[in-house]
Amino acid sequence: MATPLESVAWIHGAADCSGTSDPLIQVHRLDRDTFVLRLSKCYSFEANFLHLLLGRRRALLLDTGARPDPGARDRTLPLRRTVDEVVTGWSTERGVPEPDLVVAHTHAHGDHVSGDDQFTGRPRTHVVAPTLPAVTEFFGLPDWPDGEAGLELGGRRVTVLPIPGHEPTHIAVHDSRTGALFTGDTLYPGLLTVRDWPAYRRSAARLADLVRREEVSVVLGAHVEMTRTPGQLYPLGTTHQPDEHPLPLTPAHVLELHEACEAMAGAPHLDVHDDFVIRPPVPDGARPGAAGGSAPPGT
Ligand SMILES: [Zn+2]
Ligand SMILES: [Zn+2]
Repeated sequence: MATPLESVAWIHGAADCSGTSDPLIQVHRLDRDTFVLRLSKCYSFEANFLHLLLGRRRALLLDTGARPDPGARDRTLPLRRTVDEVVTGWSTERGVPEPDLVVAHTHAHGDHVSGDDQFTGRPRTHVVAPTLPAVTEFFGLPDWPDGEAGLELGGRRVTVLPIPGHEPTHIAVHDSRTGALFTGDTLYPGLLTVRDWPAYRRSAARLADLVRREEVSVVLGAHVEMTRTPGQLYPLGTTHQPDEHPLPLTPAHVLELHEACEAMAGAPHLDVHDDFVIRPPVPDGARPGAAGGSAPPGT
């Protein structure tokens, strides 16, 4: 690993997006066969992290990013071109044929699926539709949300785990090669918006069970919304994060999330931790003035 993930200098938006020369997509090589793509905050405040895992038979792209913000200068994300360049470069370097491409999603929110169209018609490519029937059928998860599935990439196998709660089709992906656990919007350094509390609580338990029995080296979510100050979030919609929290979390954070969910059990509430904030659904009648402020971001 060239640069430790904790110290990668990510693009993080700009005070004046009209003057930035940042790329729309930053590509970071996590290891020989794994890439992290960060989208520009000047394109979308969501600034998603996408993950691309390469194997001899298949490459797996997790998420395709957001639509441009209304005022964004650039209206199209060069995602297809970026992925093609990474895959072709990797194949050339390794001296192997290009693998097939699977485009899948941590979940179905708009900021995770909006680049899907760019892969329409790409040869040897399968885009998993962001619906529960398509996800359960493609990965082989007939007992959703129970059970787990394996996906063989060729010399590299990933495990897919249902973790609904933030959104009904949410999955986590564990890569046995790197030990990375990809947790999408269920756990990342930011505001963890929960739509279905009982489902989310069970998913946190499922993630905790996985980190207890599998080797997990790092936990990678899809956004960064915390500052480096413990417990402090950037406001929703921020397009400049010069002091943002590092992307990687640890297995200890998974256990912390699980313990927090169990501690709140039947009485969930806004729960601020150093590295993430849990926001359960606001009960009807408790909405105005409730901690957490504005409407849920829906992402
Ligand atoms: Zn999101
Ligand atoms: Zn989401």
